Amino acid sequence: MADRTMTTRRQGLLLILSSPSGAGKTTLSRRLLEFNRDLLVSVSMTTRPRRPSEISGRDYQFVTEELFQKHLAENQFLEHATVHGNCYGTPREPVLAAIDRGVDMLFDIDWQGADQLREAMPNEVVSIFILPPSLDELARRLRSRAQDSEAVIQARLAAARSEIAHWHKYDFVLVNQDIEVCLAQIQSILVAERLRRNRQIGLGDRVAELLER
Ligand code: 5GP
Repeated sequence: MADRTMTTRRQGLLLILSSPSGAGKTTLSRRLLEFNRDLLVSVSMTTRPRRPSEISGRDYQFVTEELFQKHLAENQFLEHATVHGNCYGTPREPVLAAIDRGVDMLFDIDWQGADQLREAMPNEVVSIFILPPSLDELARRLRSRAQDSEAVIQARLAAARSEIAHWHKYDFVLVNQDIEVCLAQIQSILVAERLRRNRQIGLGDRVAELLER
C-alpha cells in the first residue's frame, strides 16, 4: 500500500541562492535544476546586455531601460535592484502562481533582492549564501571564465566584498570549495525544508485521522 504520509499537499518554497559573482552560483543553480525536475527557476528581467552564452527567456528576459521602468511602475516586480549599474527584477506573477500550486522556485538574486523577498514572504523563503574559498580563488575563477573585461572583473571583485558583508542575514552559509559537496549540501537543505511542518497542508487532519484508526 502506498505511504499516504508522503502524499500530504505542500506549500511551495522560495529557495534563494546569493553569492558574489564567480562563486559558482550559476553552475550550482543549473545542476540543481537538472536534478530537481519539480523545481522551477525564476527568470529575472534585466537591462544588462546579453552575454554570448546566454539565451533570452532562459537566463534572463533582456529588456530596455524603458520597458523595465514600465514594469516597475506597474508594480510587476516582487523585488528589484540595481546591481553593477544594471537593473534586475523578479516578475511577481510566476512566483505567486508557483506557490499556489505547491511548486518550489529557485532564485539567483543578490542580497538586496533577498532582503525584499524575505520581507514580502517570510514563511516561504529559504536563503542560502555561497562563499568562495578565498578572494584569490574568486579572482582566478572570474578570469578563467573569460566573459568579462579586466576592468569589469576588478569591479566585480570590489563588489564581492560588499555582497559578502550580508552573509549573516541568510539561513544557511556554504563554502563552495568543491562543487559536488556544495551541491549535496544544497540538496539536503531543500529536502529538509520541504519536510517542515508548516509547509505541509492539512497535516493536522492527517495526524488526527492516523490516531483514529
Ligand atoms: P549577472 O549579471 O552576473 O548575471 O548577475 C549579477 C548579479 O545580479 C548576481 O548577483 C545575481 O544574483 C543578481 N541578480 C540576477 N537577477 C536578479 C534579480 O532579479 N534581482 C536581484 N535583486 N538580483 C538579481
